[in-house]
Amino acid sequence: MTLPRPERLVIATHNPGKLDEIAALLAPLGVECIAAGSLGLAEPAETEASFAGNALLKARFAAEGAGLPALADDSGLCVDALGGAPGVHTADWAETGQGRDWDLAMRKVEDRLEALGPGVPRTAAFHCTLALAWPDGRHALFEGRCPGVLVWPPRGARGFGYDPMFVADGQSLTFGEMEPAKKHAISHRARAFAKLVEAWGG
Ligand code: IMP
Repeated sequence: MTLPRPERLVIATHNPGKLDEIAALLAPLGVECIAAGSLGLAEPAETEASFAGNALLKARFAAEGAGLPALADDSGLCVDALGGAPGVHTADWAETGQGRDWDLAMRKVEDRLEALGPGVPRTAAFHCTLALAWPDGRHALFEGRCPGVLVWPPRGARGFGYDPMFVADGQSLTFGEMEPAKKHAISHRARAFAKLVEAWGG
């Protein structure tokens, strides 16, 4: 199925790290990205229990509010030994009541892994679901996954979120140490984007 490629797309995220990554991924396609925040659109509560549910909720909210097609990303880190946690609650683990603290969030993951004892598998995967929604209610979903292992202590000041403690399979640098272009080539978001671009006809 080939989907129409919009000339202008609202990016339904208020996360500057994600916005930069998405704009970089879409720039070569000639799609103009408009940040939802710059249109004064609020950020809806992520009340669904799945990445797909939350991505769709955010994309629909922005598409209806802006009267333009909108793209949302719901993503997170799923740690095998923690039963897939933090999963859809990935950002919540960083909440302090006064903003998000990613050092705290990474520490929580590490503490829970250490509590399971030595030898616990440190495998994890970043997941990304992209939802594309039109103001008339049509939508499409695209999923990407990037498996890897968690390291401690965190390394690198690039990227965002849990990047400094994640080493993708086949790599030696964490996402926090890696050149952004390299991360963009192999990340969960890049894999979901590749499917979106394919649906737009390449
Ligand atoms: P949400 O999709 O806005 O609910 O947020 C998901 C959270 O997952 C982000 O705030 C990040 O902490 C984390 N996350 C998603 N993608 C990445 C990534 O590429 N690197 C590091 N952390 C990520």
